[in-house]
Amino acid sequence: MDKLDLWKKAAFLRKTLGEDATSPIDIFTLALSIERLSIVFYPMGENLSGMCIKSNNKVIAINSSMSLGRQRFSMAHELFHLYYDDQMTTICAMGIGTGQCVEKQADQFASYLLMPPDALTDMINCLKKNKSDRLSIKDIVRIEQYFRVSRKALLFRLIDENEITQQEADSMRQGVILSAVNLGYDDNLYKPLPEDKKYMTYGFYIQQAEEALKKGLISSGKYEELLLSANRADLVYGKETDGVELID
Ligand SMILES: [Zn+2]
Repeated sequence: MDKLDLWKKAAFLRKTLGEDATSPIDIFTLALSIERLSIVFYPMGENLSGMCIKSNNKVIAINSSMSLGRQRFSMAHELFHLYYDDQMTTICAMGIGTGQCVEKQADQFASYLLMPPDALTDMINCLKKNKSDRLSIKDIVRIEQYFRVSRKALLFRLIDENEITQQEADSMRQGVILSAVNLGYDDNLYKPLPEDKKYMTYGFYIQQAEEALKKGLISSGKYEELLLSANRADLVYGKETDGVELID
């Protein structure tokens, strides 16, 4: 696997999507700027992380039963399939750094996209007082919170970069949420999104339904049917919390 090439691809995609080279990114908002892309969140059990379908209209589906940090990694992974994989349809398994060559490439790409190598190195150098220091659990939490990635995704990367040993990583796989909340962080990175966000469709599909209705190409009944089949009952019936719009 040519890591330099994957780094370049990740850097190029950042640039293409209007991001700078080093900052943490809001991967979902960024993906919504991609033309003709619909994003579907759906709980897919314990074996799949997501899928990517390429045709005239593009669809990326994310397993929403995973933690937010992992879902962000899955999104970055699927962007590799969308931009750099010839396969028209890809269904991706859960394990990071496992599976066929293209799956490993997509994982490495995702890691570089979310944690650009120079940004990660700078942060590690800042956290370590001396070059010979080892990264502590506090450092690990700070890095994963800064880049908004799952513990598993970060440990995978740090082992790959020879920053931590397998043994050190193993000791950091336990009590993940506790290690973050005890340092004062919110735990949302380590949990799935709330129940009402687990089944969702965003992006092109919604735009298309809206446009078809406005142009009179479909009836309002058909429009509602389309939204309901995309798990967007909130757009059809509104939410209980609707009515108060904060403009601040
Ligand atoms: Zn994949």
